[in-house]
Parts: sequence; structure tokens; C-alpha cells
Amino acid sequence: MAILVLGGAGYIGSHTVYELVDAGRDVVVVDNLLTGFRQAVHPKARFYQTDIRDRAALDKVFQTESIEGVIHFAASSQVGESMSDPLKYYDNNLYGTTVLLQSMVANGVKHIVFSSTAATYGEPERVPILEDDPTHPTNCYGETKLAMEHMMRWVSGAHDLHYVALRYFNACGAHPSGQIGEAHDPETHLIPIILQAAAGTREAVSIFGDDYPTRDGTCVRDYIHVTDLAQAHILALDYLLRGGENNVFNLGNGVGFTVKEVVEAARTITGQPITANLSPRRSGDPAQLVASSEKAKTVLGWKPQYADLNVILSTAWAWHKNHPNGFEG
Ligand code: UDP
Repeated sequence: MAILVLGGAGYIGSHTVYELVDAGRDVVVVDNLLTGFRQAVHPKARFYQTDIRDRAALDKVFQTESIEGVIHFAASSQVGESMSDPLKYYDNNLYGTTVLLQSMVANGVKHIVFSSTAATYGEPERVPILEDDPTHPTNCYGETKLAMEHMMRWVSGAHDLHYVALRYFNACGAHPSGQIGEAHDPETHLIPIILQAAAGTREAVSIFGDDYPTRDGTCVRDYIHVTDLAQAHILALDYLLRGGENNVFNLGNGVGFTVKEVVEAARTITGQPITANLSPRRSGDPAQLVASSEKAKTVLGWKPQYADLNVILSTAWAWHKNHPNGFEG
């Protein structure tokens, strides 16, 4: 039986496929390659260039392959874009997941682990955030991910379908082998932008606001290595395959860093000066997001291996230095 990874050519998806293959699992990847890269797909995975909104094509994958569980990353994931083009997020994230669940139910596939996000919480009332804390997203990206969680819950109540939602905090870092890493076009995430400034492919990094109620006025985030996230997906899928109940888990390191602290740490790791300029706030950004991941550690047995921000930055730097143009060279 194979594991189907939707969005397996994207950043977190491709790293999860590498971990699955390394663990000896049979892997099928579906990706429409709108934001993912064919070169990021592990050569041992069977690849289908398919959009999850295409019901007939998805049905064909389920009928061709023998799938025991699905890991679902196929979504649009940029906070800023979700504010300027919300309908893209409703279409790709919510409609895409609707079609996927229709196809899973029709084809008798019962287990799904999927990407959710810290953005489901919005501006938290306290940190570290627990899974049953209130969810009031401040951006459309988080709104669609929360709606995906709710969709899974209702569908699970009506059909023999079981889910785990993994609410990631800030995914970052690259595969320790240096073979794959983060590559978005355009890039919007803080750490790759800082490292592009270090590598000289961008002049400077803009700091989005320094008037937040945090220790230096810049936003606080909980940065978690992509390989640690990948491992959590495998643990979550195995939990479901063992008969585990529907569940939601935070995935973070439980430590928050400000934007300025990340820039400073990157200057040390790269040895480059990295110019940082102050810019206005970015719409939709909460002041601080820090996870409690005790539940994932207790229930799934998750143990992050790359928790140190310097290690995270070093793996990301190894990738960016050698691939200044991402997968294009
Ligand atoms: N950020 C920034 N400059 C950038 C990109 C991001 O100051 O060029 C800030 C952003 O406002 C947020 C943090 O860095 O507080 C992390 O943003 P990112 O887009 O990496 O992840 P998000 O928290 O939106 O998931």
C-alpha cells in the first residue's frame, strides 16, 4: 500500500516525501506544479501532474494506485496574497479540499493528515498557544485552513474518514543533505528573504513593522525545521492507521524569536552584513505566535531534532548558498 502526498513537489511536501522514502514507504505524489517543482520530487516517488480540483484525474489516481492514507499539502499559503486575492484561497484551498474529500469517500480511502496553520488562531490571547485556544483568523489564508479543519470534522461525522490537522508555526530550514530546500516565486517568507540578501540575490530585507507590542517591536514567531514537520506527518499518519481518533496538533518549538533577532542570527551564521530596512506593517500579521507542542510530543511521540535556530538557519543557508535561484540553478 502507498501513501499519497498531495502537494509533494512543494516545500514541506517534498521534505515529507524524502522522509517517507527514507523510512521505506511506497510514495505517490500529486502536484499541479503551479508553485511546486518537479525536481523537488524524490526520484523514488511515482509522480502525477494533477490538480486536486480535477475530480476525474484524482479518481484515476485512487483507482490506479493502492492508497492507504493521504497527506494533503496542496494549497495556497501566502498570507499577503490571501488578503489581496481571497477568492484564489477559497478556490484552491476549500474547493480543492472539497473535491479531494469527495474523491476519497467515493474511493474508500479513510485516512488523511493535512497542513493547517498557526494562522487559524489569529491574534492569540496567550502564548504558548494550546490546541483548544480560540480560533479567530486575522487573514484569509488562516480562515480557509480553519474551514478545511471544520470540513474534515463534518465529513468525518458522516463518512468513515479520519483526520489529523497539523497546525504548523513557521516552517523553515532545508533538508540536511542540501538536495532540496525552500523555493517560492515570488519569495515572501522571512528566512529565505534574509538569506537571499546574504547571498546577494536581493539587496535588503524589509522589516514589516516595529511598533508591535513585543520586546523589540517586531513580530515574534516560532520557527520549526521542515524535517521535524515532515516527521510529524509520518507519526500522525501512523497514529491514524493504528485507529487513532480525529485530532489537531500544534507543531512548533515553543520558543519565539523577533524578526530583528532572526536577522541578527542570520548575520552571525552567514558572516554577511545583511541590510535590513524598516517598512510598514504587513496586513494580517498577528504580533506573536508561539506554540505549545506538548500534545504532539505526548500523543504522537514527536521529538524535534533541529530545534536550535542556528541549526535551522545553517541548513537553510547551505541550500540557498548553493541554489541561489532555487531549483532553477
Ligand atoms: N517578515 C518581514 N519581512 C519579510 C517577510 C516577513 O518582516 O520580508 C515578517 C512577517 O511580518 C512575520 C514574520 O516575518 O512577522 C514571518 O513571516 P513569514 O512570511 O515568514 O511567515 P508567516 O508568519 O506569515 O507565516
